[in-house]
Amino acid sequence: MRIMAKFDTHEVCFDQALIERYGGRGPRYTSYPTALQFDEGFTADDYRRHVARSNTSGRPLSLYVHIPFCRSLCYYCACNKIVTRNADRVEKYLHHLNQEIDMQATLFDRQRKIEQLHFGGGTPTYLNENQLRALMAHLRAAFNFDESDRHEFSIEVDPRSVDAGMMGILAELGFNRVSLGIQDFDPQVQLAVNRIQSADDVNNLLRDARRNQFRSVSFDLIYGLPHQTVESFDLTLNKTLEMRPDRLAIYNYAHLPARFKGQRMIVDADIPLPETKLEILHHTIDKLAKSEYVYIGMDHFALPDDDLVRAQDEGSLQRNFQGYSTHRECDLISLGVSAIGNIGNIYAQNTTSTSEYETLLESGRLPICKGIEVDADDLLRAEVISQLMCYDRLVFTDFDSAHGVQFLDYFRLEVCRLQPLIEDGLVEIDSAQIVITPKGRLLLRSIAMIFDRYIGAEQHDSRFSKAI
Ligand code: SF4
Repeated sequence: MRIMAKFDTHEVCFDQALIERYGGRGPRYTSYPTALQFDEGFTADDYRRHVARSNTSGRPLSLYVHIPFCRSLCYYCACNKIVTRNADRVEKYLHHLNQEIDMQATLFDRQRKIEQLHFGGGTPTYLNENQLRALMAHLRAAFNFDESDRHEFSIEVDPRSVDAGMMGILAELGFNRVSLGIQDFDPQVQLAVNRIQSADDVNNLLRDARRNQFRSVSFDLIYGLPHQTVESFDLTLNKTLEMRPDRLAIYNYAHLPARFKGQRMIVDADIPLPETKLEILHHTIDKLAKSEYVYIGMDHFALPDDDLVRAQDEGSLQRNFQGYSTHRECDLISLGVSAIGNIGNIYAQNTTSTSEYETLLESGRLPICKGIEVDADDLLRAEVISQLMCYDRLVFTDFDSAHGVQFLDYFRLEVCRLQPLIEDGLVEIDSAQIVITPKGRLLLRSIAMIFDRYIGAEQHDSRFSKAI
């Protein structure tokens, strides 16, 4: 049943008091259950069993490849990375990655096509041309790549690490999307986070990507970094808008120095106050809306003709480890240290230790160290959270007919717990649907947490970042 939108889906209303009340710590829900629920009792044998079962589904596949290396440390970084200039270390890792590719490929029905591929890190463009060519050739030989227009192959590019001509090479290898790590163009901010790159270099890279007919170029920006002000971030936005990338991901810097050692290099006093961060976010959303960018979910923006907006309109948008993405129908195979895969109703994560990763592969074992088999209740909750985070609404008749349960009956406790949020105007509910209001748009995580059965007392868990 098609229910008419009550609100402009992309409208946002700032209410400082509500943000202070509800904007506490919480998961980003790139998966549900979140990685905190993954269990070490989940083994490579469990994984094999589930993959075999998934082969009967014929679902297409998505590949994630983790390249953990970086040449220098960006102080804000919370990724799993290895800062090194040791070429032997990289070659050794690639050798083991190829072993893992071969072991994984034998598990999957060759008829299942790889429709989606993402190289993330770390810095995938740490690899030189020969290494990238060899890795892509190995993947193509091992798996059945979809080379039609449907394929979506993307790579994270560090503008500081690519030589002239690299975009042409990436296009030749089949990549048709790139995301460029920008964070901020302000020299003082760049110095404070140890990531210095010029806007001219980024612009040249963007032109090169367009010359090579990349379908989409995305920029990553971060707000909340040291020395940022509304005025300074406005200049970064002006430069960004002059270049007009197809997509933008704008993340909130989560300062957790107790967990991430590199963040201890950031001087606490240089970090903008929470109210300044909020003003930066407010200004950013207003400015991007005036420049025709569509606000998607929590932190993504895209031009109206981008596939991400189309996927939201068509119902094929998903929240996953890359943030928001298309190709919701795929099973996800993950390759490389710390990578997380999602096959059918399981999540499986590789070890986060590179030495353990290599040792396990040398002894002929898959480097899976933990995971979870989600149960029927998890699946229902995952679907609710996904609907709210991708589409800002959940239509009961659609949900009931897809899952064979009565939403209002199954989630009656959660609906009661939504009551204060309804009274505060973050959410509206009637007999047909739940809708996130413009006031609730910025508090999607807090709304989703109502449906998270694991959250309980962990609500203010310091392992989570703040919603805003
Ligand atoms: S932000 Fe990217 S380039 Fe910088 S240290 Fe982290 S993974 Fe490496």
